[in-house]
Amino acid sequence: MRGKLIAGNWKMNGSFSLIDEMFKVLCPSVEKGVCEVVICPPDVLISSMKKKFEGTMIEVGAQNVHSEVSGAFTGETSVSLLQECEVHWCIVGHSERRMLFDETDEFIRSKTETLLKHAIRPILCVGETLEQRESGNYEEVVFAQLGKGLSGLETDEQLRCVVAYEPIWAIGTGKTATPEQANSMHRLIRKELESIATKKVAEKMRILYGGSVNAENAETLLSQSEIDGVLVGGASLKTEVFPQIVKAGS
Ligand code: PEP
Repeated sequence: MRGKLIAGNWKMNGSFSLIDEMFKVLCPSVEKGVCEVVICPPDVLISSMKKKFEGTMIEVGAQNVHSEVSGAFTGETSVSLLQECEVHWCIVGHSERRMLFDETDEFIRSKTETLLKHAIRPILCVGETLEQRESGNYEEVVFAQLGKGLSGLETDEQLRCVVAYEPIWAIGTGKTATPEQANSMHRLIRKELESIATKKVAEKMRILYGGSVNAENAETLLSQSEIDGVLVGGASLKTEVFPQIVKAGS
């Protein structure tokens, strides 16, 4: 049985005061052991958020990391600092990093390896553009991202990864994949995981859906057999909405 994971990606948004506001509304919605919740704020907020949420069921994650452990990489965040902040999750391969910062599958893969070596669990994002979906080769695109991200890792390392399927045409656009579209893509991803990894990894790995998840569609998405959670962008910043998404996963 794969437990549900609800992850929030604040992107380059949020504030110190939003940490307090989210704390007040979110804690009552998170019942012990029902679903896992991770919020990934901008790096500057990580320590404060960790302190605020200490002793709750809500985890704090990062949105990015560099593949090197330290060095002359102005503006980047090291895995050792994330470790010092006791971060246990980190998003890698988000489409905004791939497209706006030209991150390649190879670079993403090296970040994944660095995270795993430092006991931080990667949330590996994969997904196709609208053009790729419409031209019909979206499965190939997603499988290539998945293969480059996960093949060659040890089984126990693969088991510590989570995949987030995020069709780029659904991110921040208000266009959600239908629950059926998302579920069937998740089923194909799981099948592909059998050849990239093993049957056991395919059965156990959680596959999240991301792309315009909101209070209205969360419950239906989360009730699909292959959807093990959601990665939420815009709605994770809304104190009146995110707790409802968390409840939908409980
Ligand atoms: C995301 O950024 O990962 C995302 C899914 O964004 P949104 O929910 O705003 O579409």
